[in-house]
Amino acid sequence: MLKRIILSATIIATICNIIIPSSVNAVSTETAVRNIIDEQQTRKDTTIESPDLIPINENIINLDDNIIKIMIDPGHFDHYNRSPVYSPYWESIMTWKLSNYLREELQALGVHADLTKDSLEEDPSLNDRGFSSKGYDFFISMHSNAGAYESMDQPLAFVYQQLSWTTIDDTSAELGRLLAEKVSEVMQTNQKGGIARRQGTGDWDRNGFMDDEWYSVLFGARYVGTPGILMEHSFHTNYRATLWLYNDDNLKRLAKEEAEVIYEYFSSIKPQQYIVGDVNNDGLIDSVDATQILVYYAELSAGGDSTFNERQKAVSDINSDGFIDSVDSAVILSFYSYLSTGGTETDIKNWFINN
Ligand SMILES: [Zn+2]
Repeated sequence: MLKRIILSATIIATICNIIIPSSVNAVSTETAVRNIIDEQQTRKDTTIESPDLIPINENIINLDDNIIKIMIDPGHFDHYNRSPVYSPYWESIMTWKLSNYLREELQALGVHADLTKDSLEEDPSLNDRGFSSKGYDFFISMHSNAGAYESMDQPLAFVYQQLSWTTIDDTSAELGRLLAEKVSEVMQTNQKGGIARRQGTGDWDRNGFMDDEWYSVLFGARYVGTPGILMEHSFHTNYRATLWLYNDDNLKRLAKEEAEVIYEYFSSIKPQQYIVGDVNNDGLIDSVDATQILVYYAELSAGGDSTFNERQKAVSDINSDGFIDSVDSAVILSFYSYLSTGGTETDIKNWFINN
């Protein structure tokens, strides 16, 4: 019955992905992809402007070079790609939620993150989604996959073709692999996550080589020089994976873990500077930061999971005793009152040592 449902869904969904697992052509953990129905191939668009003429998003024009900038693309729009095995699930709703959670988690890490669209209903062209990543450090298009077999339960990062003239393909492959493996771990998928490449059949960027990306969003991001991936969060044709992705708490956790991977990758390239004591990363050390530490401490004391990300942990142990607790919170409050009354020392650690 299940097979029949999937089979009929496959026939109807002519522009959706179908993946046949494994192949003799597979290179190590790279998954070979023969037959995909989720995304359209790059369009034969002959009116594409030169990459130099494509504008940079005004949100990042005046940002410091050292700020990590990520463009997140919530795949599809409105109600699109319903799961054939769990009908409340729509791929487009999941990607919209997950993208927004990911943006929040990245921002909490001090990363600048934008979305390719402003609402669930909005549907920018696939090329434009990729183009909008111009000037960003990374482009990630969020999806879940559809497979020929219900048993397929594997995250796949579609990464760039191997290119000799640039290193953006290396970033795409490296971070794609890290993210696919992390998604696999968090979702506890039956098959380990991996990367895949899919080549288009034309020379849409007119560089003289038939080396274009199959996926228009990746074509667009590569065209403007941004490393990118299309991340398939396992399969919405798999009951277990679909049920997992339908849960908001799971999506929040997934977003947090993905954000950490992206952050770790780019912070090793662009050293990040933090203000110790500025827990919420708003440029100020004040009572909000003190409160966040208290909440964190209370949650941990009650046996809950750590809710702080790596950046927050790094800036919260004010007295350097190895613990983030009510003492740190109290020091922040005293420092805040010191600053409010005209104090001139701006480094909270120095101030603490001297008081
Ligand atoms: Zn999709």
